[in-house]
Formats: sequence, C-alpha cells, structure tokens
Amino acid sequence: MSSARYDFDMPETVRSVCNSLSTAGERAYLVGGSLRDLLSGRPPVDWDLATTATPKRIMEIFSRVVPTGIDHGTVTVLMGDDALEVTTLRGDGAYTDGRHPDSVEFIKDIEEDLARRDFTINAMAWEPEERILHDPFGGRDDLTARLLRAVGDPVARFTEDGLRVMRAARFAATLDFDIEKGTLEAMPAATPKLVLVSVERRRDELLKTLKARAPSRGLLIMKEFGMFDRLIDEVHNLEDGQDESEPGAWKRTVRRVDFCPAQNALRLAALLLDAIPRPRKPFASLRLDRKTHKKASRLLNIGKIDYQSDWTNARIRRFLYETGADIAMDIITLWKADLRVADTNFGAADELLDRVKSAMSSGDPLAAKDLRVDGDDMMTDLDLEPGPHLGNLLERLLSHVIDHPEDNEKSKLIEIARGML
Ligand code: ATP
Ligand code: MG
Repeated sequence: MSSARYDFDMPETVRSVCNSLSTAGERAYLVGGSLRDLLSGRPPVDWDLATTATPKRIMEIFSRVVPTGIDHGTVTVLMGDDALEVTTLRGDGAYTDGRHPDSVEFIKDIEEDLARRDFTINAMAWEPEERILHDPFGGRDDLTARLLRAVGDPVARFTEDGLRVMRAARFAATLDFDIEKGTLEAMPAATPKLVLVSVERRRDELLKTLKARAPSRGLLIMKEFGMFDRLIDEVHNLEDGQDESEPGAWKRTVRRVDFCPAQNALRLAALLLDAIPRPRKPFASLRLDRKTHKKASRLLNIGKIDYQSDWTNARIRRFLYETGADIAMDIITLWKADLRVADTNFGAADELLDRVKSAMSSGDPLAAKDLRVDGDDMMTDLDLEPGPHLGNLLERLLSHVIDHPEDNEKSKLIEIARGML
C-alpha cells in the first residue's frame, strides 16, 4: 500500500523546479493539499513541494529565492511570474507550548516527514521523477472513504498543536468529509489548547471554513467544542434548540451561512445576525483586513429588511440611499438567505433585487455625485462661504431629489437650496 505509480499533470514551473532539484541530486516531492486535491480530482489551489535539499542548498540551486520561513525550512522559489513554496523535509521536535515544535530537524526520509503531518489525507507524497506515491498512513483509502483521520495517536497529535482541532473542523466542511471516530473522540480534550494559538492562524482556518460550499458542517463542530472562544464569543449565546422541528438560533444561523454565497463579509454577518445582544464591536477579535471588517460590520448593522411589494419607487431609492448603493445587493442577498432559513417566501427578496437593479440603471439620483449641482455652484450662485455647511446642504438636496427626481436640474436645485437657507 505504501508505494504505487501515478501520473499527474503539473504546471510547467512546478515540473521545472522538481527537475532542477533532481538534476542537483536531491529528491523532490509534491505534498500536502495539492496532492490531496489531485488525487480527489479537484484542481489544486497552490502547489506544495517538499525536498531533501536544505534551504541553503535550494538557494544555491535557484537564482531567485526568498527566505520566507527559513527557520522551519520553507523558502519561496521565484520563476518568471510564479512563486513556489519549497519546504525541506523535516522532523518536529517536542511541542511544549501547544502550538509550535520547540525545534525542527532537517531530514532525508520522506516517510518521517509525512509522520509529522496532521491528517492521513495530507500525509502523502508523490515523486514526479519516479512517479511513486508514498502513502504510509493509508491517506488514499481515507480519501476514498471521505474520512479525516489523524496521523498516529490522535490525542497526542491534537495536543501537540492546538490548531489541528480547528483544521479538522475546517477540512470536514471544505471537503465534506466525516471525522473518523477515534479522531473525533480525541478532539474535546485538545480544544482548550486552541486558545494558545494566535488569533491570526485561528481566523485563517475560520475564513477557509467559510469558503466551503456548506460551512455548516465545520461551524457546528467548532461551536460544539468551544472553538469560537476568544474569536467570536457572541456565537456561544446562540441557542442550539431542541431538534429539527424546533431549530434554535444556532441551527438557523448555520443554515443562513450555507445559503449565503461564499464571501467572507456576507457569511460573517450571517453568523451574527441573530446574536443578542448585538455585539458593540463585532468581529473585533478576528483582526480582519480593513475592507472585510468594514463590510461585515455594515451588513450586520443594517440587519434585516422590512420590504413590502407596495414600496413606491421613491421608497426603493430611499432604501438605496440609506443603505448605500455599494452594499445594497449584498444586504438583500443576506436577507434572502435569512428568508430561506425561515422557509418564508423569498420571492420578495428577488423582487427587491430586481427593483433595486432598475433603480440603479434608471439614471435617477441616488448619491451626492448624481446631483446636478456641486459645492462650487452653491458658493457662486448663493454667495456662500466654503465650509461643512455646503456638504450638509447638498445632503439635504439629495434627500429631496430621492423623492422628486424630476427636480434634479441645476436652476431648480439652486432655488430649493435658497429656500433651505
Ligand atoms: P489548503 O488547501 O488549504 O492549502 P493544505 O492541506 O495544503 O490545505 P496547508 O495549511 O497549506 O494546508 O498546509 C500544507 C500541509 O502542511 C498540509 O497538507 C499538512 O500536511 C501540513 N500541515 C499544515 N499545517 C499543519 C499542522 N498544524 N499540523 C500538522 N501538519 C500541518
Ligand atoms: Mg496548501
């Protein structure tokens, strides 16, 4: 079972890096998620290479190398416009802090390197030169059985590195796999170690989970084992509920997340839409990038929509003005996901989506930039001084033309503004 011959297509750059390593007398292997994805017929996201060459040797073999994580044996080889991570085979020393090995040792034996990896499906290696698949832990069989199984003793492996329980939940969702019984049973004891792991690494696992077609599978495990602690604590206030006939707020929440398209901001907002009390600083502990944080917080603040079919077109324009045209589609998408969870007629959301699209393409004014006057016109025609009152006046004019788009003409606007002074 441990070695069989396989052929896989690899991009030219990856093949060329492997060839150069072989020519230099080293061995090169495709490992990790890229091999797992190839074996299960998915296109790999990125290509993980492992080699017997030490980082120093890799830097001699290739002309352009960035020492990305050189202490752990990872460097980035640059070729043309491509960048490829290449990691030296290594064995991990003891883990005393629950998150990093105390030391790493560069080794020559691929099977020893595979033994330090987390799950059997991630602990295989393929050698392009020999076309051999190294599979010492039965990863291929677990891929077929759609099972996530720890390499070696699950309790020991989970307690070494607290992040692995969260990775288990993440892979369960992204691959839609079951967690093997012994592996699952080892998880609760290790979960307290998770808080020792940096917020950034835990956040990245959560965000990868949210990219799954249906994140619910991973999210349910995460909440059950307390993995949201000191990440998104509010999730723990959402009730589990009794059963399917009476789903609690948490069950509704994960279904809502599944119904949202796979965008981080949307799915994060979906996660806290029912949180009571509404968090004052949502997502603060996650240390998200500014753009995602801002968007997720705005979506959550706007919350649910009270749209009815009898809304006038002016009411639709006001909705767009108040929510912001840039986020309106997403807020309706979130609302639609929420309606679907409640099994309510979500046709209302599609109708609103259509009406918002027509309002946006109608040319009717929706934002200050659509007004036929600007601050300069105000100063010239109304003899006003520069200052914040100009912005204020424009805002009031906009509010007027939202209801009366026919008044969006320069002379009319100047007259209306005069009446507002
Ligand atoms: P992805 O598709 O998200 O890239 P991946 O399996 O490649 O999934 P990475 O985080 O890129 O995940 O890690 C690459 C490989 O390194 C994994 O497949 C696994 O073999 C090993 N690995 C990563 N993190 C850990 C960890 N915390 N403990 C043990 N092995 C790990
Ligand atoms: Mg990877």
